[in-house]
Amino acid sequence: MSLRFDLNEGLEEKLQSLEDLTWNVKQIQDEMVADILTVNANTEYLHRFLHGKFDKEHFKKNIPIVTYKDVQPYIERIANGEPSDVISAQPITGFTRSSGTSGGKQKLLPLNMNFLENIKFLRNICAFVICRHIDGAEQGKVMKFAFIKPESTTPSGLLVGAASTYFYKSDHFRNQTSNFDFACTSPTEIVLCRDNKQSMYCHLLCGLVQREEVVSVSAAFASTLVRAINFLEEYWKELCSNIRMAQVSEWIEDTSCRNCVSEILGEPNPELANLIEQECNQISWGGIISRLWPNTKFVECIVTGQMTQYISTLEFYSKELPIVSMNYLASEAVFGMNMNPLCKPQDVSYTFIPNMAYFEFLLVDEVNELKIVDLVDVKLGCYYETLVTSYAGLYRYRVGDILQVTGFYNNAPQFRFVRRKDVALSIDVETTTEEELLKAVTHARMVLESSDLMLTDFTCYADISTKPGHYVIYWELKAKNKNKILELDDKLLTECCYKVEENLGIRYRKLRSKEGSIGALEIRVVQPGTFDSVMNFFISQGASFVQYKTPVCLKSSDALANLESNVLTRYFSDKPPPPL
Ligand code: AMP
Repeated sequence: MSLRFDLNEGLEEKLQSLEDLTWNVKQIQDEMVADILTVNANTEYLHRFLHGKFDKEHFKKNIPIVTYKDVQPYIERIANGEPSDVISAQPITGFTRSSGTSGGKQKLLPLNMNFLENIKFLRNICAFVICRHIDGAEQGKVMKFAFIKPESTTPSGLLVGAASTYFYKSDHFRNQTSNFDFACTSPTEIVLCRDNKQSMYCHLLCGLVQREEVVSVSAAFASTLVRAINFLEEYWKELCSNIRMAQVSEWIEDTSCRNCVSEILGEPNPELANLIEQECNQISWGGIISRLWPNTKFVECIVTGQMTQYISTLEFYSKELPIVSMNYLASEAVFGMNMNPLCKPQDVSYTFIPNMAYFEFLLVDEVNELKIVDLVDVKLGCYYETLVTSYAGLYRYRVGDILQVTGFYNNAPQFRFVRRKDVALSIDVETTTEEELLKAVTHARMVLESSDLMLTDFTCYADISTKPGHYVIYWELKAKNKNKILELDDKLLTECCYKVEENLGIRYRKLRSKEGSIGALEIRVVQPGTFDSVMNFFISQGASFVQYKTPVCLKSSDALANLESNVLTRYFSDKPPPPL
């Protein structure tokens, strides 16, 4: 059975590989755990717990379920110069740094060649599935907003970088010769530019010059695409002038970027500059993606989990285009992909790919019973937290994402991303999850629909300095009609506060309405650009631009202080929500 997805295979063979992969889930997973245990039998970690018996049964009985805190000392020993075999037989070639913006603290996670191969595998299989669903997806170019974050080193000299940076710097990305890794409008030099601002500008410039060839617009996360459009709003005049004169702006100082962009710019092109100016000058930027890139067939970026908050903004910019949310991965492992790319963003599920790691699932239920099942044994409708065992030295590691089983593709379970674990607001005995907050804010966002306002970003926190404590949501708003200044309508925003409360959980509503132990919910509208500066703050702390996700609930006091200093106005709910 083929466990790899061979780039040189024909379509029929590729399809067969996909079928094999998704039918033989049990066999692949069993072989994988057996292999990981055999290969790593001599590691200090497995020896400590398995005492010489390396079968799956012993593994399940004796290896503890761990969180990052438990394995951190082992990882740090390797970072400080001890050999990889503390946890892994294969050499640890570096560390990935998780963004830390989805679940709290940044983590250093071990990396080896297997991880990069898995990312390559995922990209190829995703491209194949996209081509099966979208005619002509491979017959043009992707305008892909990809960025790197410069690496640092551990005391022992191993590299520490974002997972995506490793990939973009690897030969896997540089030698993309396969027809199933789409051609991009930006040369690799732009992706590898160390300055994200120069990189963003050049991505747009290359994309605009090759506008006719663009068949899809993509970024890892929806937030990055929204940021790219915001950037375009700020820089389109300068971009047009570069195109008109065939001259790259002086501030693009990165020589490799300058050289390759100059080549793509070619001769002065006033017609194209005029055309772009005409589109950008329109009062509304609704549908701007398909207006500037008329052959675009789809937009690709992750729109699940924390990214659901960007769906409506993206829909506004992309109008009728399908938004395709293809993959689900983390610094710990590659998990899955969407087999139905054209489904609605709200219906996206990810099919777990069984040859990426050994996956187990911890049942999440009210009784708190510790029940762990294999990938093939998850039950439809149930909620689980994923445990990963990988070749890079993670064993039964809790990823911290809560998923719900929505179906099966052949024998491979499909999951809806529900939320990050432990990310919740609480004032009294209620706990409000990330998912509940996202839903409630979506309802409030609909109140804005009749107005000229658009919600571009938000984050929440529980303010317990007031008596009683209350939920605070920071909102960044923007005018849909770009010639208008931001006009805040008190009545509308007060109504938004109420809408959020009305759509929060029963416990919240009861404590707020009947018991009065939670105060009126507050929306604090911040200056335009504030969330960019929050992002820059997290980037200065080590997060990468590509992996950055605005936290749904904010814990960092520095980031909160930044938001606070940018508050324009405050609104409170003017009546308690119905308790039931
Ligand atoms: P990082 O390790 O910084 O790349 O962050 C990984 C985390 O991002 C995952 O554990 C998820 O919480 C989140 N994430 C990644 N892909 C998706 C996705 N497709 N949908 C929802 N959340 C995702």
